[in-house]
Amino acid sequence: MCGIVGIVDAGGVSIQLYYALYALQHRGQESAGISTFDGTNLHKFKGNGLVADVFSPPVLTDLKGNAGIGHVRYPTTGANLPENIQPLNFQFQEHFISIAHNGNLVNTCELRAEYEEAGQMFTTTTDTEIIAKILIDAIGNSGSVEDAVSFCMHKLVGSYSVVILIDGAVYGFRDPLGIKPFCIGKTEHGYMLASESVAMDALNAKFLRDVKPGELVRIDAEGIKCMQIAVAGKRAHCIFEYIYFARADAIIDGVLVYDVRRQIGHKLFEEDPVKADSVCSVPDSGTAYAIGYAEGSKIPFVESLMKNRYMGRTFIMPTQKERERAVRIKLNPIPAHLKDKSVVLVDDSIVRGTTSKRIIEMMRDAGAREVHMRIGSPAIKAPCYLGVDMPTREELIASNKAEDEVRHSITATTLHHISLDALVEAIGFDRESLCTGCLTGCYPLPIEGEKAKTCQINFVDGTIQSKLGSFEA
Ligand code: AMP
Repeated sequence: MCGIVGIVDAGGVSIQLYYALYALQHRGQESAGISTFDGTNLHKFKGNGLVADVFSPPVLTDLKGNAGIGHVRYPTTGANLPENIQPLNFQFQEHFISIAHNGNLVNTCELRAEYEEAGQMFTTTTDTEIIAKILIDAIGNSGSVEDAVSFCMHKLVGSYSVVILIDGAVYGFRDPLGIKPFCIGKTEHGYMLASESVAMDALNAKFLRDVKPGELVRIDAEGIKCMQIAVAGKRAHCIFEYIYFARADAIIDGVLVYDVRRQIGHKLFEEDPVKADSVCSVPDSGTAYAIGYAEGSKIPFVESLMKNRYMGRTFIMPTQKERERAVRIKLNPIPAHLKDKSVVLVDDSIVRGTTSKRIIEMMRDAGAREVHMRIGSPAIKAPCYLGVDMPTREELIASNKAEDEVRHSITATTLHHISLDALVEAIGFDRESLCTGCLTGCYPLPIEGEKAKTCQINFVDGTIQSKLGSFEA
């Protein structure tokens, strides 16, 4: 759960990187960073907090150059330490290297041990630094960034969409299963790469296409080139991007997220119809689903929970009473819309179950007679090892509870989760092209102690640099 962007544009990049990160803020609120290269020097700035808090106009003015990368962080691997804030920056021989990563490796420990034995030192606890060290080591051996990326991709197991700034060029590569989203756009005087198409929309750039799973893209002052480095027997796009994580207006791997959520709303009604006075969402994550449910059921959509949009980061309140008050500040029920009413309440997912329980209690306190909970994802049964911040099995409410037990514990009148078949149909890929690890406990990569359905990954033979081809949309 992070957002990345890389831009090369003859008109300068710092402001564009800033607005792209702003558009990707939902992918990580812990920290933000930008690195740029002006032809001679690397400029960098990063800090804890939201994009708008980290960067100021003077800081952006100092981030000079026509090539740069940026990152918003939501930690999955590595603690909340200042040295873990990305992009990570290195100087190697004559080169300035900056790197940012979205995803999570599952062979971090093995790789770190291997490189430590070979004499490498690590200054962060992130898997991103491992990617950087493998790359730098391989650039030293082969002299070519492209061949170093190929070598690196042979070694990494996990999910990764990566941007690297090396001198004046931005490189991007995506894991062979295409787990995390990554796409390419055309800016006014150059090209860009970003986690989601919404970053292109924010810059009025033209979305060109997704980075293909296993593909390497290079953008520099000359233009854009690309090459397929690895081809896997299948894809494994993260299903949770469609359910919750991506913005509803993003187009990921050719699919508009809003449409998926709206269609699921229709299917939620078809699978388990209920008579009610109104449909309401848990804003904002449940809204597209609720609109679909209202369309399908012909029950009016009535906003009955208002979200305070200025809440910022959720505080970690020390007592239960304070936590409950924080939920009330974030979401306020409208008694006039709820009194004596039977309401369908739609949200994207139940993880620990604490939010749903509190919201239902608030709605009942505001006078709701019945609360029929409808959820846009199947029950979340297993942890995510591939980049979504998901709790352990013990903390996941549905990992060892049947649907009716979950209903009872969140105090809903009725509860229905969308079926996996309906979710897959709404996304439009076949089931084998999606990572459903959190829903099924079966992962697309080998993970110690877990079930996996893996596939063959073939790499292009020989040197890569000379094979980089022209970009095809
Ligand atoms: P809970 O069941 O209390 O753990 O919270 C579920 C709510 O958190 C849902 O409304 C989701 O929109 C949201 N949510 C789902 N997955 C995540 C996640 N990985 N990190 C943060 N919030 C999430």
